[in-house]
Amino acid sequence: MDLSLFFAGTAGSVPSARRGLPAVLVRRGGDRLLFDCGEGTQRQLLRSVGLVDVDSVFITHFHADHWLGLPGMLKAFGYALVEESRPGHLDARLAEQLGVVPGPDFGRLQRGETVAGVSPDQVMGPTREGRKVVLSGDTAPSEALAIAAHEADVLVHEATFAEEEIERARQTSHSTARQAAELARDADVRMLALTHISSRYAGPELRDEARAVFGATDVLRDFDTIEVPFPERGKASIERWSERKARERGPEGEPATRAEPVASP
Ligand SMILES: [Zn+2]
Repeated sequence: MDLSLFFAGTAGSVPSARRGLPAVLVRRGGDRLLFDCGEGTQRQLLRSVGLVDVDSVFITHFHADHWLGLPGMLKAFGYALVEESRPGHLDARLAEQLGVVPGPDFGRLQRGETVAGVSPDQVMGPTREGRKVVLSGDTAPSEALAIAAHEADVLVHEATFAEEEIERARQTSHSTARQAAELARDADVRMLALTHISSRYAGPELRDEARAVFGATDVLRDFDTIEVPFPERGKASIERWSERKARERGPEGEPATRAEPVASP
């Protein structure tokens, strides 16, 4: 089942020419969950992947930059999306050799039943982990978040400031890129995705600061997507909007049907 995070906006507090206000669209199978909905989110979606029917909207905090795009939302903070673990693979050949007839009995084995004297642990591989995605919302470094993010496939964490502004980060209950990276390292996450970027930063300086502590870090730009495969199929990866447009245009050089971000980063 597909799982991806589309970054409709990656700014902190105020939009800039390059970054819209915070919004992350999580797509899992047919489900659409929107995390935060800064002013202009509908327009950002229209300009990129198109408007979507959103099943649920989650607001990570109540600052106006996160909910003006959707007035009247309920109170909320950080979120952890955790999939249940999946049963292991059924070794069909082995099951048959042991006398199980292919068909409904395979399903019974997969549901944990013993069939014809053959128990699931004889023919099924180890239980496979589900995926875990954690979104910080606006936050100072938080131990509760570090615990929730333990071994997450992706941690989306705010990085409003660079370390040189650590005092300002403390005063405003935000994080620096380095603090986010320290948390990612301590939580043993597999990818750190930085967002909620103050307009004073371009992005690469925050990325470099974080990577000095935790290598698997990137700073997201508007309209980037993170694909999160099941763990046995590889690691999460970012598709930049520019790469996606180039892929969709294809070798013929067909013009893109949708607009570019306000200004290409
Ligand atoms: Zn904010």
